[in-house]
Parts: sequence; C-alpha cells; structure tokens
Amino acid sequence: TGISELLLSRIRDVQDYPEPGVVFKDITPLLADPAAFTALTDSLAEFTVRHGATKVVGLEARGFILGAPVAVRAGVGFIPVRKAGKLPGATLSQAYALEYGTAEIEVHAEDLSPGDRVMVIDDVLATGGTAEASLSLIRRAGAQVAGVAVLMELGFLDGRARLEAALDGAPLEAL
Ligand code: IMP
Repeated sequence: TGISELLLSRIRDVQDYPEPGVVFKDITPLLADPAAFTALTDSLAEFTVRHGATKVVGLEARGFILGAPVAVRAGVGFIPVRKAGKLPGATLSQAYALEYGTAEIEVHAEDLSPGDRVMVIDDVLATGGTAEASLSLIRRAGAQVAGVAVLMELGFLDGRARLEAALDGAPLEAL
C-alpha cells in the first residue's frame, strides 16, 4: 500500500468541530507517528525541490508544523504567513472573504523578493480562500509561485477551482 493510505489512516475525523455539522480533519495522530510524519515531510520536500522552489511559505498554524521540516529537508528558507497582527516587522497584508465576514493574513515584506520561487504548504485545502490570499501576497511581493502542496484537499468544497486563476499554471499537489 502507498503513502496515501498510510497518511489517511493517521487522520482523525472529529464530528461537529468547530461547530455542529462540520467534520474536522485532525492531523495530530499523524504528527505523533514518526513513520507517517517522516513520509509526509519527505513527500512534500520532494515536490518542493522538483518544482524548483527557493522558499517555503507555511500558513498559520498547522502549515508551520508541516512547512518547517519540509523547508529544512528541501534546503530552502521557511517563511511564516500569519494571521493579522502577529508579525513584528513591516508587513504586506491580504484580506479575504470567509463564509461570514473576512480574515486577513500577513507576511514580513522583507522575507520575499523578486527572484524567489515560493512553495506554499498547509495541512488542509478547504474553500481555498487562505491559500488564494497567500498567493496574492507572494505575487504582490514580486516573487513567483512555485506551487501549493497540502496533505489533504476537501474536494467537495471546490478549493481547487477557486485557486485556479491565482495558481496561473503552477501545480497544486494534495497527497
Ligand atoms: P480554506 O481557507 O477554507 O481553504 O481553509 C483552509 C484553512 O483552514 C487551512 O489553514 C486549514 O488548516 C484550516 N482548515 C479548514 N478545515 C480544516 C480541517 O478539517 N482540518 C484542519 N484544518 C482545517
């Protein structure tokens, strides 16, 4: 059996979290299993190297847990994209629409430069709003998008379609 089966077997469905009617995909069993976490890290790092990335962007908060070892393994730098108000230096920020209301993410402006090729890493692609906003930040900084790589894509939410324009031909990988 392949890596997908191993990874899937270590993701826990939590009913009615964070609100009634939602099934939350919990990756903490996977993080606690060194064979699964290593396989995930290696696979995401291979994708990162194959697509010529020079930086990894991790999306707060589980994108930090996955993105940091991927960056080390791939031999590139790690850049955190955080929820608004958390980064101390000069930032670029990007607002995006949620089902109810808006959210905002930020990156340190000096962390991304023209010439960088950036791989975005997160655990779950849901509606695609967060990843789409991160691609806007990368392009506004003048850097290139190498791709987006996630552990899991919730296909029924059509995040892949929402990301298509922002990807502009760059690959989206869901393990
Ligand atoms: P999106 O912006 O709707 O694609 O939501 C993606 C963001 O929400 C990512 O940063 C995920 O970590 C988080 N997220 C959404 N659904 C889940 C889930 O079921 N499990 C874990 N994280 C989730």
